[in-house]
Amino acid sequence: MNVRVRFAPSPTGFLHIGGLRTALYNYLFARHHGGTFVLRIEDTDQSRYVEGAEQDIIDSLEWTGMEIDEGPGKGGDFGPYRQSERKATYHEYAKQLVDQGQAYYAFDTVEEINEMRERLKKSGNPSPKYDSITRQSMKNSLTLSQDEVEKRMANGDEYVVRLKVPRKETVRFEDEIRGTVSFDTSGLDDQVLLKSDGMPTYHLANVVDDHTMKISHVIRGEEWLSSTPKHILLYKAFGWEPPVMAHLPLIMSPSGGKLSKRKAESEGIPVNTKDYIAGNYEPDALVNFLAYLGWSPGDDSEIHDMEELCELFTLDRVSKGGAVFNHKKLMWYNENYIRDHTVEELEPRVKELLDAEGYEIPSEEYLSKVIELLHERVSKIDEFASMGDFFFATPESYNEKALKKWKTNSAELVQAYKEKISELSGEEFEAAMLKDQLKEVIDAYDVGFGKLMMPLRIAVSGQGFGPDLFPAMELIGKEEVIGRLNTALEKLG
Ligand code: GLU
Repeated sequence: MNVRVRFAPSPTGFLHIGGLRTALYNYLFARHHGGTFVLRIEDTDQSRYVEGAEQDIIDSLEWTGMEIDEGPGKGGDFGPYRQSERKATYHEYAKQLVDQGQAYYAFDTVEEINEMRERLKKSGNPSPKYDSITRQSMKNSLTLSQDEVEKRMANGDEYVVRLKVPRKETVRFEDEIRGTVSFDTSGLDDQVLLKSDGMPTYHLANVVDDHTMKISHVIRGEEWLSSTPKHILLYKAFGWEPPVMAHLPLIMSPSGGKLSKRKAESEGIPVNTKDYIAGNYEPDALVNFLAYLGWSPGDDSEIHDMEELCELFTLDRVSKGGAVFNHKKLMWYNENYIRDHTVEELEPRVKELLDAEGYEIPSEEYLSKVIELLHERVSKIDEFASMGDFFFATPESYNEKALKKWKTNSAELVQAYKEKISELSGEEFEAAMLKDQLKEVIDAYDVGFGKLMMPLRIAVSGQGFGPDLFPAMELIGKEEVIGRLNTALEKLG
């Protein structure tokens, strides 16, 4: 089978993290089978169109390393890939269904439809539908004469095209993830296929495009599962073979329930892909994390880059149940990928972050030493700039929590240490020697290591935690370190 899958977002806002996972599963599936990954923009709902959303989708896919094979701006044999540019195709297919007697034109106004619903409600029908029964008493091409229909159309009267949904039929389909799914058509309205503004509905456009673009597998979020019976009915009406269906599990919030935008925000989880880009997350970590959000290779391995994921990914290992978004786990992945990158790989990115903060970098060698010192400690790349700020600027203030460790005898100890290291020559001012000097002071005063170490760290870095202090002091240099100790002694006494 020639595998062709599509990611079909609507450009109604920034690409949500759930949408990115859907894209990823499609991409991994396509690559696993040597197939084609199509990007299709479903922009038929003009009222929800958001300027810039399409570009955001494309940028997000590029940032994570998913290459689009066919799509807007990329081209391909089945374009155009924006639904707003395919209107004529939808009209053609809607007309085909009307001509075949599977669909009809309906001229009813909103008021007339409401009236019908009210009337039926009063007579004891709790959920009235525009369906196989009621359509017979409404204004449509099934009840009006052909003359009347033609006259109304020529007149420019508004109309929609509706699908004749069969009465009381059970629609069944096989879902690759969920198994057999069945739905009863008695709960369905006669679906609108073409709206009065001439635009297709999601259902018509989706089915026509999946068929004409030769999509072999539809892999999408569970929220679309309830639309699938309508799609199956449409495939049947056209006499087309539906693609294989696979509905992905919901992404859940750690506190339970679907991870909605609001929930994510209240739980400190970035919700849009662009927030991860702006937040300096590692794209390969996010990819790895998202791949495991509803899928696993079936062993206890956890770290796989995109190439390996493409090799490992299969639909039969996607879970049915909701997948909980664990932000701590994502940070764990992020940390892992940072450790995995060499100092040389990190250097240009760290430099960019430091430049943005306005820090001056003494030399390339200096920068790579800073990266080495912090490499094992940061979990996000911007921490090289935040945790490492004191390598590039004298601390202007001291962390309040850390200051609690500045005790009454701290000044005396720091003063003694300062006097000792002032006597060192430039060459002697190196990590091992600096540590020896500290030992001498604490021995002389008969205090524990932390009693001097903590105040020293505060004075040099402004913080209560950070990288190994002695190599850091060596790097910062004698003059600057002594200056900082003097400042702390003055300020903190
Ligand atoms: N346009 C729909 C969306 O925004 C596509 C759903 C589907 O994949 O069929 O997700």
